[in-house]
Amino acid sequence: MAGFYLCEMQILDGKAAAQSIKDALKLDVAQLASNGKEVPHLVAILVGNNGASETYVAAKVKACEEVGFKSTLIRFESTISAFRLLETIRELNTDPDVDGILVQLPLPAHISSEEIINAIDPSKDVDGFHPVTVGRLVLGQPTFIPATPYGIQLMLAHYKIETSGRHAVVIGRSNIVGRPMSILLSAAGPQGNATVTICHSQTKNLKEICLSADIIIAALGRPGFVTADMVKEGAVVIDVGITRVDDPGRKRGYRISGDVNFDDVATKAGFLTPVPGGVGPMTIAALLKNTFHACALKHYD
Ligand code: NAP
Repeated sequence: MAGFYLCEMQILDGKAAAQSIKDALKLDVAQLASNGKEVPHLVAILVGNNGASETYVAAKVKACEEVGFKSTLIRFESTISAFRLLETIRELNTDPDVDGILVQLPLPAHISSEEIINAIDPSKDVDGFHPVTVGRLVLGQPTFIPATPYGIQLMLAHYKIETSGRHAVVIGRSNIVGRPMSILLSAAGPQGNATVTICHSQTKNLKEICLSADIIIAALGRPGFVTADMVKEGAVVIDVGITRVDDPGRKRGYRISGDVNFDDVATKAGFLTPVPGGVGPMTIAALLKNTFHACALKHYD
């Protein structure tokens, strides 16, 4: 069915939306520089050499360069001790030249991600994972919003998609995507005011719940999980999934698959994000916005 869609489906182009955010940030950074102020500085920490993590960190560093931020990539062997990693984070916390700190997850099994994230100064927590940051988000206080849900909010705003009074179904309840996404969509305010159902692996009647959704956010990590028979005519479908699926036909031996069966769902959805080129670029744009914000707060201190 590729290319033949019954209703007028609009693709939510994350690359284009992210580019417009980056263009605006570039101007803001140039303005800071012309006022003699320091430009934002993001430090990314990468432990080990997980292929997907390498790709994500490289994209983040490249995006920083694109908008005129300073960026530093600190790499450690997978055998690094938690103590050494914590020491590095403490140094970065007190370094006035550093605005944002991100630790690329997952970390090796011998290191507790929780302990590492908890060590990051909340004022530099541009990934939005620290308990203080999450607490503020839940309470509706100004804070760093985790990059992926923030990126989805920015995408909804860019395409002027109404969320108020609509039924949003979030599939997945992780701390980095599903849970914060459900909080944002249900909060009072722009890209909020939705009636939200959050689903997970123990949810019964998922198909029926999805069929009543005006907006579906699929964040479960199961390639092609959401199919047309789960989608109401004209619904907004946001695909967060990124899974490497073996594909011997490709040079690199795999392809990236989302959680939505794109060609199938395109026959029903009103708006749909592609993978790649949907939520991924928006996540990076959101991270940049958080880092700019961290830097701006420092200037206004
Ligand atoms: P995660 O921590 O593995 O969480 C997956 C969630 O999906 C869990 O809450 C799980 O339920 C639920 N789930 C699993 N199977 C299900 C099923 N059959 N029916 C209903 N719910 C089910 O994953 P994550 O970190 O949130 O990431 C989700 C996906 O998004 C992954 O593919 C990841 O690579 C991708 N991702 C993309 C971006 C981006 O920038 N585009 C950023 C982050 C993540 P339980 O809680 O009951 O186990």
